[in-house]
Amino acid sequence: MTALITISGYPSSGKSQRAAQIKRHIEARLEDPSYVGPSLSVAVLDDTLNIDRSSYNDSRSEKPARGTLFTAVQRNLAQNKVVIVDSLDYIKGFRYQIYCAARELKVRVCTAWVYVLAMPDLCKQWNSERTDGEVYAPETLANLLQRYEEPSSMVRWDSSLSTVSWTDEDVPADDIWRAITEGIMKPPNTGTQAVAKAPTDALRTLEHTTASVVSALVSEQVNSGSLGGITPVTLSSTLQVRITLPPRNVTLSELQRLKRQFVTLHKKAITLGTTEKGAVDWSEQSVADKFVVYLEENMKP
Ligand code: ADP
Ligand code: MG
Repeated sequence: MTALITISGYPSSGKSQRAAQIKRHIEARLEDPSYVGPSLSVAVLDDTLNIDRSSYNDSRSEKPARGTLFTAVQRNLAQNKVVIVDSLDYIKGFRYQIYCAARELKVRVCTAWVYVLAMPDLCKQWNSERTDGEVYAPETLANLLQRYEEPSSMVRWDSSLSTVSWTDEDVPADDIWRAITEGIMKPPNTGTQAVAKAPTDALRTLEHTTASVVSALVSEQVNSGSLGGITPVTLSSTLQVRITLPPRNVTLSELQRLKRQFVTLHKKAITLGTTEKGAVDWSEQSVADKFVVYLEENMKP
């Protein structure tokens, strides 16, 4: 049993710190007397090994850098190690390449995504305060923040097992351990090859369904006069969702901001197309359900 854990996040967002935490947790469990599996070691592959920060300055020098990392991932997986990829991992295509390689080797894959939503300023600050010699040049950092392709929860191979916020003390060790020890291993080459494009009107569904949820929510708040709690949101005669609101007036601007974030997050999945059959459901119902979950998780209390 080997396993692959990938971490993705903005530059200087705390990925290496999280990688170290994950490594400590896994090693502790591997050494625990209750663990009866094969003995394994844990390798963290980070891009400071052989990838210079400056190679992120332009995409030409980035390519060989990614190649080096990819080779290291393959080699370590073949040596039966639990591999933690601690790299920017900001290109969707590269994440997919690593995912496919793991499947080829029949390795369990678990994606932990260090998530620092809308906090580029914090990354900039942390970057400028770095004492480990890994500071990104300001232009490189700005460039990378801009090019970062956020993992999409609507594409199965790119959906994150866990989102770690910069305020979290620790990583969700139980979830990660379960994923690497019990996770389902999929056979290679089933469905990863054929690229089925999402419906062409998926973008429109995404946009108008989320807009309808926002306006229905605003009018529901006005009509009911009550604040917070479980609120029904009627989108059409056949489509109704329920959302739990915080006990206060949720403003239109707040909802619109969250809507924009949600749309940005999922637009890329649509543009890229779905890569696993049936993995993505772009129906109004599905978009509305996912948006409600997103709102519930991201509205301030
Ligand atoms: P990355 O690997 O994403 O570039 P690091 O884990 O090396 O980021 O962290 C970059 C800098 O940010 C470090 O100097 C670290 O001290 C700081 N840092 C990271 N995460 C946090 C956090 N949650 N709170 C405060 N500072 C942090
Ligand atoms: Mg790092």
